[in-house]
Amino acid sequence: MSTPGQTTIIIGGASGIGWATAQLLAGRGNTVIIADLDGTAAGTRATELGANTAGHQVDVTDEQAMRTLFDTVAADHGPIDTVVDCAGISHPGTIADLSLADWKATVDVCLTGAFLTVKHAAHTMRDGGSIVLVASLNGRQPGVGMGAYCSAKAGVLMLTEVAAMELAPRGIRVNAVNPGFVHTPLTHGATLVPGLVEEYIENTPLGRAGTPADVARTIAFLTSGDTGWMTGAAIDLNGGAHTMRYPNIVERVADMTATSTDTA
Ligand code: NAP
Repeated sequence: MSTPGQTTIIIGGASGIGWATAQLLAGRGNTVIIADLDGTAAGTRATELGANTAGHQVDVTDEQAMRTLFDTVAADHGPIDTVVDCAGISHPGTIADLSLADWKATVDVCLTGAFLTVKHAAHTMRDGGSIVLVASLNGRQPGVGMGAYCSAKAGVLMLTEVAAMELAPRGIRVNAVNPGFVHTPLTHGATLVPGLVEEYIENTPLGRAGTPADVARTIAFLTSGDTGWMTGAAIDLNGGAHTMRYPNIVERVADMTATSTDTA
């Protein structure tokens, strides 16, 4: 169980995995601060949670905005106990075809955002706190057409280990979760590609995709005293998909395009 009374910042907290985590931790008595690119959505979500919460606009790639977020929350709510970074985007495309802009955008949000999260958490959170970074199955399992995302998430896993070493003297634990395919707004586009989710599930021993609540429960576990001896770790959370192979997104999209051209 996560510890009631903690102050928790969830970046990317207005949607998907972040929102499920916000609801779970608020239900367990945490003060939950929802920070998201869309400040209106963050505010609306905070209102839905009720008391002991606030919503903030932040771009996880903007260092000044991140500094302001952490300083403001510390001033308003006192020492920060837990920080969760759920901000993420994905721009699929083979390496040969991916634009530099799409590569940079993905690495910026997924990896530089995680760096800025750890950096400013380290400056403002209390000793003995906990940071959780949402990495991915794709940080350890490659997928065709996933070069930018896979590379950024692999970077998050190494960042987790280095941060764990550097912050251990203060008792701050840094861990990651590696979700497989989870139904959220981020993956909605993939559900529109015929056969893609089915291919993921065929390569998943437990035979289903994940839910945001599946991931939220593991994040809550990592923020709790139950994992007080765990740092620099990454929990695979994917129905066993890491034991098999990732779907070929490029082939599936090409099949879809060919089918729609044939029927046009
Ligand atoms: P989601 O529902 O799209 O949530 C991601 C949130 O991050 C959104 O609220 C999004 O805001 C926000 N965000 C995007 N760019 C941002 C920025 N520059 N600054 C601040 N916030 C930003 O997706 P999700 O599936 O819950 O993803 C959560 C995390 O899990 C991500 O790190 C993702 O890579 C990771 N993950 C997801 C899956 C999956 O299958 N869903 C699998 C493995 C890992 P907007 O909606 O306004 O853009």
